[in-house]
Amino acid sequence: MIINISELLSTPGKSVDYQIPIEMDAFCVGGESYPFIKKEMVRLNITNTGDREITISGRIEAALAIPCDRCLEEVVTPFSLDVEKTVDLKMSDEDRINDLDETSYIDHSSLDVDQLVSNEILIHFPMKTLCREDCKGICFKCGQNLNLGECGCDRESLDPRMSAIRDIFKNFKEV
Ligand SMILES: [Zn+2]
Ligand SMILES: [Zn+2]
Repeated sequence: MIINISELLSTPGKSVDYQIPIEMDAFCVGGESYPFIKKEMVRLNITNTGDREITISGRIEAALAIPCDRCLEEVVTPFSLDVEKTVDLKMSDEDRINDLDETSYIDHSSLDVDQLVSNEILIHFPMKTLCREDCKGICFKCGQNLNLGECGCDRESLDPRMSAIRDIFKNFKEV
């Protein structure tokens, strides 16, 4: 949701509390899309400190479904994030993006809450997601989730070319 902050920006000393819903259904990054399992209202306090500067403080409570790196089962991954930002409005939007190395969520009149949330989740996105530490993954032959039980596939013969050679060898011996 985009909120209009033009009045706040033009009134030094003004401070406003917001509760804003997250509107996007999923967090998207690198061509992947992770659906929100939980999203609470984003609580934000935005204060015009005077001197063309605003502070944003708030809290994001949400959870995403992220596939396990090994078995691809969805793992509910919570995000409880504190937001503390100071935005220097004297800088151009472009300079600010370069400075913060993030996509701009704010301009001279509005603040894009979904974009702010996306930026924060990206910073805190886990490098690795496992459904459990000893996840057994999936069988590379039949695709069964091995946490749910053995499928009975022979996973010893890793390379099909090797097993072909072994078969030839076996036939040769039988002759
Ligand atoms: Zn797993
Ligand atoms: Zn299998």
